[in-house]
Amino acid sequence: MIRVAIAGAYGRMGREVTKTVWNADDMELIGATDSKGEGVDVGSLIEAGEIGVLIEKDLEELILRTRPDVLIDFTIPQAVYRNIMTCLNHGVRPVVGTSGLSQEKIQEIIDVSQSLGVGGLIAPNFAIGAILMMKFASEAVRHFPHVEIIELHHDQKVDAPSGTSIKTAETIIEQRGDFEQGSVNEFENITGVRGGKLTGGIRIHSVRLPGLVAHQEVIFGGLGQTLTIRHDSTTRESFMPGVLLGIRKVVHLERVVYGLDKLLFD
Ligand code: NAP
Repeated sequence: MIRVAIAGAYGRMGREVTKTVWNADDMELIGATDSKGEGVDVGSLIEAGEIGVLIEKDLEELILRTRPDVLIDFTIPQAVYRNIMTCLNHGVRPVVGTSGLSQEKIQEIIDVSQSLGVGGLIAPNFAIGAILMMKFASEAVRHFPHVEIIELHHDQKVDAPSGTSIKTAETIIEQRGDFEQGSVNEFENITGVRGGKLTGGIRIHSVRLPGLVAHQEVIFGGLGQTLTIRHDSTTRESFMPGVLLGIRKVVHLERVVYGLDKLLFD
């Protein structure tokens, strides 16, 4: 049995993950943290009745008491780095879905995990379809170097752009290199109207609306044609097979890896 704790268990993703882990035959749900809902039995959040796992506030205290093998983190950008470091320092493998970590922080986490020999996963997107979208995009850019990304999420998402759009742009730039696209004379009449531009020259546009979950279009333009690769997560269940895969794989890793693709294709 893999002993699993969840950080952010009271949140939207946290509840879905709680249900998934609770129903997994090879996992034991042993703890939960959140800054909200202290003392609430997580079973009541997933319509499972009382299961004896209560939400608490202090991750380190939970780790010292319950000794989980894996901590799933779906919290907020301001909390995730500290949570990961707490895990690594106690030999607990983090499986992280929270977005907003900078590339520098991710590299630092990977280096620390390697020196401690503790496995883990940081995945900007746990949906298998989104991983395929990135893979197909890195193939398409060999033929269509002109590309822009539109990412669309529910209006309660706090950070922009999404971690998935950044990872997609990085994957594309790895394949394409730097490339100046668009008119050299371009200017904006409204600040930000052309989106944010990443080093490497790819623009990302972020849409936030109620009714959306997590969606992304990668649009390629060529002579007389465009190609759009689109992925839609219509429910949060879409992320759960990836989360389960991550939990099962990290127990065999000796450092943190970045991207579910590393576990699917490497
Ligand atoms: P959410 O509903 O706001 O849930 C986050 C929860 O974490 C909230 O209850 C929050 O409480 C709590 N929290 C804040 N600080 C904490 C701490 N130090 N320890 C424990 N809990 C803490 O957000 P969500 O929609 O579930 O999304 C969570 C994260 O996952 C976001 O970064 C989102 O972008 C990401 N995400 C990733 C994927 C993926 O596939 N990788 C998919 C969907 C979402 P407060 O409200 O009091 O701060």
